[in-house]
Amino acid sequence: MEDALEPEKKRTRGLDTVTKIATSQSRAPAITARTQTQNQITAPKVPKKTGPRCSTAIAMVLKNQKSGPAVPAQKPGAAAPPMVGGRKPTKRPAWDLKGQLCDLNAELKCCRERTQTLAQENQQLQDQLREAQQQAKARGAECRTLEGELARVQAQAEQGQQELGSLRARVLELEEQQCTQEGLLRELQKEQLGLQEERRGLAARLEEQERRLQASEAALSGSQAEVASLRQEATGQAALLVEQGERLHGLEMERRRLHNQLQELKGNIRVFCRVRPVLPGEPTPPPSFLLFPSGPGGPADPPTRLSVSRCDERRGTLSGAPAPATRHDFSFDRVFPPGSRQDEVFEEIAMLVQSALDGYPVCIFAYGQTGSGKTFTMEGGPGRDPQVEGLIPRALRHLFSVAQELGGQGWTYSFVASYVEIYNETVRDLLATGPRKGQGGECEIRRAGPGSEELTVTNARYVPVSCEKEVEALLHLAHQNRAVARTSQNERSSRSHSVFQLQISGEHTGRGLQCGASLNLVDLAGSERLDPSLALGPGERDRLRETQAINSSLSTLGLVIMALSNKESHIPYRNSKLTYLLQNSLGGSAKMLMFVNISPLEENVSESLNSLRFASKVNQCVIGTAQANRK
Ligand code: ADP
Ligand code: MG
Repeated sequence: MEDALEPEKKRTRGLDTVTKIATSQSRAPAITARTQTQNQITAPKVPKKTGPRCSTAIAMVLKNQKSGPAVPAQKPGAAAPPMVGGRKPTKRPAWDLKGQLCDLNAELKCCRERTQTLAQENQQLQDQLREAQQQAKARGAECRTLEGELARVQAQAEQGQQELGSLRARVLELEEQQCTQEGLLRELQKEQLGLQEERRGLAARLEEQERRLQASEAALSGSQAEVASLRQEATGQAALLVEQGERLHGLEMERRRLHNQLQELKGNIRVFCRVRPVLPGEPTPPPSFLLFPSGPGGPADPPTRLSVSRCDERRGTLSGAPAPATRHDFSFDRVFPPGSRQDEVFEEIAMLVQSALDGYPVCIFAYGQTGSGKTFTMEGGPGRDPQVEGLIPRALRHLFSVAQELGGQGWTYSFVASYVEIYNETVRDLLATGPRKGQGGECEIRRAGPGSEELTVTNARYVPVSCEKEVEALLHLAHQNRAVARTSQNERSSRSHSVFQLQISGEHTGRGLQCGASLNLVDLAGSERLDPSLALGPGERDRLRETQAINSSLSTLGLVIMALSNKESHIPYRNSKLTYLLQNSLGGSAKMLMFVNISPLEENVSESLNSLRFASKVNQCVIGTAQANRK
């Protein structure tokens, strides 16, 4: 490296360079002149030297000029030595001093010029030398600066090396990191691909969802519009409903009024006659024994009349021939000939039963001799055949169903059932359970409270009912209770009145209306009289007492009805347990229906006529306009 050279050497070289430059500038003519001079003047050959030695040579030339053989100086204007054959002038002859002097003067002049030139040249060289020295000095300073710079650069280089090393390590580390990052990148790219795939899937799903959403929104807005219009419609409907409700209520009240009017027109006391069919094993009565003549409207009209023909054996003719049969005609609100179905019978009383829901007390009696079909009519036939279901289950089913319908108009009804029998003027609970089952005598008829009109039977069960199953269970229980009390001699059920009472309470909270009434379904004891011709044994005495009690209570019932009909001030309710228990459901605001059950057998004609006469009397009664028990 040139800059790294030692300063001394550099200086030397710098000088050489200067010399060379000086020589090159002016050497050619100088050397040429000197060579000529040397060749001419100096005999000994001076080794050719450059640089400082040149000045020495010049000095020697000058010396030689003084001490060496004198060259005749050629005087100005003096003739130059003659030329021989065009060659170098020959040496002036010794005698030609003048010529020689002239030559020497010429030569001196030349030397002086030469000296002057050389002095100039020397001066020039010295200037150059000074300049070179200055340059060298500057170069030295520059060199030092450069050396310092070099050192600094070296230091920097070292530092750079160190940095490079650390950078290399860093690079390695980074390469490693890059490797890891690349691996990671590859994984990420793979993951990205997966994610892109997933994204595409999701985008497709999103698109689908958006499509669906749009469809849903469209549907929703459609639905909302529909809802709005439906709401509007509903508001209209609600207003209409309120209006209809008002109208319905008005109509319901009107229906009740008209229904009641109709019942009144039909009579608040009505009597239906029902003739049971001839049972298997029973003698067939003569065809003319019972007749059912058509009403004024012909056979299409439901029968209301009954004719009983009676042959009185005691009234024989003188000739011994039997007296002609006496015809007894009866007319009732309705006559049911044998073969009338249970549902037909119920159809006729359904409206009456409904009056109980409207708040009118209702009493339905079955009157007749034992075996005439009272229990069949009230409770139903044997077995669980729905065809032979009696009035009690049918009436309750009807009430439950109508109450449910009225529920739609805001009425709420509740029903409480009780079932008692009155035997020999004692009251017994037919719904008793447990140890009380079959026991009698402990029940009493009492007012529900001081000053209360309502009557209640002490120790009797009052069971809330709301469906026909519950009613079925109660009828079954009553049947069991009767069976426990039954003895072989004494068919007690025929010798007692069974009273099924249903207390109905209705409420219309919206209008603050309440109504309550009881429906009484009474299966009366057999109305047959005791045959006075029969001998009175010990058992018969009891029977007589029983019969008297029955007859007394039945005639009391008749008397009560009569008294009510005649609007007498005193109604003899207290004369029998039956009328006492039923007092709130008889008279004034009550509606009454009596079934007179008739046996189709000729042998029972006497009892049948008795029953029919009793019923006819009842049928003639009219009890004042009924008032619904509205509170
Ligand atoms: P009562 O209660 O008046 O003593 P029942 O109701 O026990 O009379 O009837 C006596 C018999 O006649 C029973 O066997 C009953 O099934 C039957 N019976 C009553 N009425 C009818 C009728 N309408 N149809 C068929 N059988 C009847
Ligand atoms: Mg009976």
